Amino acid sequence: QVDRYLYHMRLSDDVLLDVMARFQAEMVKGLGKDTNPTATVKMLPTFVRSLPDGSEKGEFLAVDLGGSQFRAHQVKVFDDGKQSSQLESKFYPTPKEVIQGNGAELFDYVVDCLSDFMETKNLKHKKLPLGFTFSFPCKQTKLEEGILLAWTKHFKVRGVQDTDVVRSLRKALQQHKASFDIDVDVLALVNDTVGTMMTCGYDDQRCEVGLIIGTGTNACYMEEMRHIDLVEGDEGRMCINTEWGAFGDDGALDDLRTEFDRELDLGSLNPGKQLFEKMISSLYLGELVRLILLKMTKEGLLFNGKVSTALLTKGKIEMKHVSAMEKYKEGLSNTKEILMELNLFPSEEDCIAVQHVCTIVSFRSANLCAAALAAILTRLRENKKLLRMRTTVGIDGGLYKTHPQYAKRLHKVVRRLVPNCDVRFLLSVSGSGKGAAMVTAVAYRLAAQRKQIDAALAPFLLSLETLREVKDKMRTELEYGLKRETQASATVKMLPTYVCGTPDGTEKGKFLALDLGGTNFRVLLVKIRSGRRRSVQMYNKIFAIPLEIMQGTGEELFDHIVQCIADFLEYMGIKGARLPLGFTFSFPCRQASIDKGTLVGWTKGFKATDCEGEDVVDMLREAIRRRNEFDLDIVAVVNDTVGTMMTCGYEDPNCEIGLIAGTGSNVCYMEDMKNIEIVEGNEGKMCINTEWGGFGDNGCIDNIRTKYDKEVDEGSLNPGKQRYEKMTSGMYLGEIVRQILIDLTKQGLLFRGQISESLRKRGIFETKFLSQIESDRLALLQVRRILQQLGLDSTCEDSIIVKEVCGAVSKRAAQLCGAGLAAIVEKKREDQGAEHLQITVGVDGTLYKLHPHFSRVLRETVKELAPRCDVTFMLSEDGSGKGAALITAVAKRLHNVGQK
Ligand code: ADP
Ligand code: MG
Repeated sequence: QVDRYLYHMRLSDDVLLDVMARFQAEMVKGLGKDTNPTATVKMLPTFVRSLPDGSEKGEFLAVDLGGSQFRAHQVKVFDDGKQSSQLESKFYPTPKEVIQGNGAELFDYVVDCLSDFMETKNLKHKKLPLGFTFSFPCKQTKLEEGILLAWTKHFKVRGVQDTDVVRSLRKALQQHKASFDIDVDVLALVNDTVGTMMTCGYDDQRCEVGLIIGTGTNACYMEEMRHIDLVEGDEGRMCINTEWGAFGDDGALDDLRTEFDRELDLGSLNPGKQLFEKMISSLYLGELVRLILLKMTKEGLLFNGKVSTALLTKGKIEMKHVSAMEKYKEGLSNTKEILMELNLFPSEEDCIAVQHVCTIVSFRSANLCAAALAAILTRLRENKKLLRMRTTVGIDGGLYKTHPQYAKRLHKVVRRLVPNCDVRFLLSVSGSGKGAAMVTAVAYRLAAQRKQIDAALAPFLLSLETLREVKDKMRTELEYGLKRETQASATVKMLPTYVCGTPDGTEKGKFLALDLGGTNFRVLLVKIRSGRRRSVQMYNKIFAIPLEIMQGTGEELFDHIVQCIADFLEYMGIKGARLPLGFTFSFPCRQASIDKGTLVGWTKGFKATDCEGEDVVDMLREAIRRRNEFDLDIVAVVNDTVGTMMTCGYEDPNCEIGLIAGTGSNVCYMEDMKNIEIVEGNEGKMCINTEWGGFGDNGCIDNIRTKYDKEVDEGSLNPGKQRYEKMTSGMYLGEIVRQILIDLTKQGLLFRGQISESLRKRGIFETKFLSQIESDRLALLQVRRILQQLGLDSTCEDSIIVKEVCGAVSKRAAQLCGAGLAAIVEKKREDQGAEHLQITVGVDGTLYKLHPHFSRVLRETVKELAPRCDVTFMLSEDGSGKGAALITAVAKRLHNVGQK
């Protein structure tokens, strides 16, 4: 009879799968930006992004408001490798006049209790961080804030809805501070579901769902940031408080709700709200049973149709009664006793029937709960793209804990609904209060870490003012390099290149070019056509220069170069032709003419002996002679910056600057002859190779150099030299990052404090990894994969930090480079006496070309620091090789003209 009567409360698996699907759809709705406003399941971001990692430590306070009892806790977390913690708690009553009174009274009461707790635990003299477990739906925009959306359960305090409860608590604490001498700092607002997940997460790293089945019901889980429309950022995960109690408030469950559910809802504090919760949680199950019994009695199905006053009284049957009646092991005695207390006179049949009603009501609760949980688990599994998933659900709540059959039933149904999830249900022993302390502990750890990371990266943040200073200093150094009296000691050497003209389009012929100075050595054959068929054709071959040759003797180096040329000529079948050759040699050379260049000093990765102070053209000629196999007409020695400028100049006559941002960093530009004191003549212009990489070698930018820069410098081939280059170019950026990572690891902020073997290796962190890691399209998981390739075993949080470090280093590089370039364009503008300058910069270099942000930040900085210059950046396609050929062609043309 009862079965037939309560037919609608018995849910088959098909119905549950349907509920599961409905709940899944609701979750998606709640997560979407446009659909959230009308979603019933609010899917609230909690700003809890990390689970405990075991390195938390300290002493924390927590208060827990919103469950059946109000509690204060003290939690000590030990960083002893055993993840131990200590919890002491005290319960306080929640009188009806407080939880249905006004806001100020509520928070005063909370603080009174806390103050009492601190008194008893002797904590009054301490300044402690506090986590606030507040188990009502709150809209958060950060961890320590929560706007109450609505009261639920048995709470209804006036003047709190739509206000920030953390602020109210802080305010109450502030008022108490003076009179009671307590000093606590509210660091986190936590929903009880989150607290439960965190508590269980401390013991089981796999825990990523928190579930409450008590006075109320609710669940939270770790969602991928990229699915959370309401919070900026795509990286990592964040805990979502589903607030699933409101599922069905739009009528989505009306087909499952019975007349009893409707009646119960009408008599509640919040009619029409929390309809799912009202079918599940312990606050309502007793009342549901009462309503059913009442109706059955009235219809004569129970107790001989005799209704007692007690049965007519709201709230007379509570959850504890339902639980007791369902203790089947104890037969019918409990049931009988409870019914007698309600002034009912049950027959044995009545008792069996009532027991059965209780079972149907509480089983439905477990079924519905299981369906929604199954939806969450499925979502988690799909997020992880796993076919099978192992996970842990942290659970708390009186109904789950004390009801004799509830837990078993729930587990069984969940496993039936999601057979591809291996679920561990972990009961939270110490409850949501400890969880709030854990959240606080994690927040505390993260805040402390954040401070340390910010401190480490602060020197990389350059203010506009600092950048202006850099620009001004660069300008001063440029002038020193040009002046006769100061140029000898200048750090920015401003080397004349004897390149005085740009191509005019009449150049033609076949040329050889060499490109030495970066990562690769190349030999090129360049065919230039003039006139209507104006074009440049190139053939090239790349040769490696082994480290032992880069850093061996000069003779070996040049013999190797000639060997490569011989291979190339052979390969192209042009060994007999005595072609004019341009030699791109990207190191500082003092030139006395276009085909003479004395090496001032090696930079970047080169350090061959017996070359400094020698003429590189002579050395090349001698090597060719030594080989005695072919002859070449070496016409020009060219810096790569100049080659780049010339290449772009061939397309755009406005191009008067050449910039390299590759292995090294350097700039050249067209200077008025009258300003170049060390070269005779005042007519026309000549290209100056600034060699600005040496900027700062006199200490003028030491104020912005960090300890990491100094370490990189000391570990380099040329300590003390090229200080600006070492802050701005591809050869060093990765190394700066590595130094920072080592330091952060030493401080215990990364890689669990373990400096891996690979992190110790100089050069392991190449600049191309910066580009990869900083790419916007890259998900965090991929960053982790890159780090893994480097032998660095990183967590999600590690990856975020590494990415930040890379960003700081590359941004500073681009800004410094921009400040230098601003000095040059401003100088040119002033020299021309122009209000505005329109100019093109030819650029080459893999850092500029491939880094996702470098070029943009560089351009923005120039715009900011030289607002009166309109600078166009032109990428040079294969600039240095082609440029050398063009210079050779120009030189050849001018030479021929001269001869004629
Ligand atoms: P050059 O050695 O002539 O300067 P490039 O302009 O090609 O040659 O620069 C090579 C340098 O660029 C490498 O030494 C490295 O530091 C850097 N680099 C290589 N790949 C990348 C990348 N993907 N992103 C940024 N920088 C890179
Ligand atoms: Mg190059």
